[in-house]
Amino acid sequence: FKRISFKGKSKDELVEMGETFNHMIDLLQTNYEKQEQFVSNASHELKTPLTIIESYADLLKRRGMERPDLFDESIEAIHSEAIRMREMTEQLLLLAKHQEQWNIKLEKINLIEFMAESAKVFQNAYHRNIEIHSKDEIFATSDVQKLKQLLFIFLDNARKYSDEFIAVYIGKTGNEAYVRIEDRGIGIPKNELEKVFDRFYRVDKARTRKQGGSGLGLSVAKEIADAIHVRIEMDSLEGRGTTVTLFLPSK
Ligand code: ADP
Repeated sequence: FKRISFKGKSKDELVEMGETFNHMIDLLQTNYEKQEQFVSNASHELKTPLTIIESYADLLKRRGMERPDLFDESIEAIHSEAIRMREMTEQLLLLAKHQEQWNIKLEKINLIEFMAESAKVFQNAYHRNIEIHSKDEIFATSDVQKLKQLLFIFLDNARKYSDEFIAVYIGKTGNEAYVRIEDRGIGIPKNELEKVFDRFYRVDKARTRKQGGSGLGLSVAKEIADAIHVRIEMDSLEGRGTTVTLFLPSK
């Protein structure tokens, strides 16, 4: 903030300054409330996996000796909840850090090679096949690490919310290259499409609970996309599947 001097100002100028001042206070108040909501949501979401870990650890401590059959289930739950907490913490740190500190390095990327490589990593990790469709060589200007992160958020959602088919189409329209990710999964109801990019928002918690996740993926995606000038379009039909198109600068 710059210091403002009220000396020698006319009445009209003072009234105008007063209005600006009120506007600034409103903005600060809204930002503060958003921040407060964010911290409260984050604590709440982190508490769930922590409670699960605590109760399984407690169960093992009390009954582990006499009930070795509890062992596998408990370790499995503790392990997957710990992973969920780590992922959530990483996403929260990314959201808390300002984009200016992200150290974006733009370069020319061969999208087909890039996609083939990313799909290989994904397939090895999750044993899910990805079909890649493309006609010509397509180039985009982007940051390799950030683009990979962005792509993985959408591929991971396609995996979590569908059983079989995931396809990626790469192409060009005008000055932009595009990457379209298609799944034939559970889809998203029309009236929820806008909201899924909000922090912590999940369509029907019961439906999505078993897939893990935090409701943070798409808000992180939005931040990354802004930083590397990617436009996101999302289309979905409930029960049929979801299509996400990323438009990238291609100069
Ligand atoms: P999460 O960690 O819950 O996946 P996201 O922010 O990535 O968080 O997504 C928010 C919500 O949007 C998800 O909980 C899910 O309900 C819905 N969603 C996102 N991608 C898809 C998809 N490909 N198919 C169906 N639902 C999706």
